[in-house]
Amino acid sequence: MKLLCYVPPGSDFETWIADFGKALPQADIRFWQEGDNAPADYALVWRPPAAMLQGRQDLKAIFNLGAGVDAILKLGDALPAGVPLVRIEDGGMAIQMASYVTHAVLGYFGRYDIYRQQAARCEWQPLPEPDKRAFSVGILGLGVLGSRIAAALHHFEFPLNGWSRTPKDLPGVRNFVGDDALDDFLRASRVLVCILPLTDATRGIVNRENLQKLQKGEEGAYLINVARGGHVVEADLLALIQEGQVAAATLDVFEQEPLAPDHPFWQEPRISITPHISAITVDADSVRQISDKIRQLEQGKVVSGIIDRSSGY
Ligand code: NDP
Repeated sequence: MKLLCYVPPGSDFETWIADFGKALPQADIRFWQEGDNAPADYALVWRPPAAMLQGRQDLKAIFNLGAGVDAILKLGDALPAGVPLVRIEDGGMAIQMASYVTHAVLGYFGRYDIYRQQAARCEWQPLPEPDKRAFSVGILGLGVLGSRIAAALHHFEFPLNGWSRTPKDLPGVRNFVGDDALDDFLRASRVLVCILPLTDATRGIVNRENLQKLQKGEEGAYLINVARGGHVVEADLLALIQEGQVAAATLDVFEQEPLAPDHPFWQEPRISITPHISAITVDADSVRQISDKIRQLEQGKVVSGIIDRSSGY
């Protein structure tokens, strides 16, 4: 069995490829180089160049070494038609996402940023007890990662809303399904968590119009974006924070990464910035997952995690 690999030079993924050698000892593994048209059975890729995959109808599957496929789908017709594109499902990321989002929600709910500011002034001043019933969290996307975030927040008894394309039955989550339910979902939520795939249907969804529909309480609404920068209209968010309609935002992803040093987000103290670290694919989990799927495909079985190219996720 021949595995053809591509990862961006210098990326952490390079060590993974060695681990595939241990997980699939029978495999002949090589890195793709310009002009390599030799046969292969499977491709393992992260952000591959179009030339690697163009016309490669010999592949039995392409494995994307991450959960999001927005980057690889940009290759368009260069992706061989009919060859299954398989993404990582969880791969150790769900628990990280749940930790990141829970930390942000608990921080806003408990007003720890205000207590930190008070402490810096040596000020001992308990604030009125917050009302959890008025602090509903709305999760855009209830897939592998969104449902794990919901489970973590349910543990802390936050009222939860979740938006998806197909109905879900998750403990403690009021489910809103499809475009027609988006307005009601937003109007029922105070904290908006975005964990959608970036597709034609979801690009720019966190915009002025939609943010304004959120419940504001006394301080304003909150945003936590751990999906892709393209979901947020950055100028809209900044303006709404400055107008006081959005109290604060925690952002892990941005339209342009790294975030430019002169980006206005850096200067806005109500925006917390992390450098796309809310969930990192875990080497061992992902190598095991992909190796298992390759073995299943070799036995003629159906695997999960295949992308529907028409919906973009
Ligand atoms: P899934 O495919 O499992 O879940 C996607 C969810 O979004 C599903 O519930 C789906 O609905 C919903 N959805 C998609 N399109 C729409 C739409 N148009 N309207 C309503 N709901 C929609 O993906 P994951 O949970 O594994 O990952 C989500 C995204 O998180 C990835 O695509 C990636 O971009 C991002 N990510 C970010 C990371 C980071 O480090 N910041 C790390 C990993 C992933 P339904 O269930 O009905 O299909």
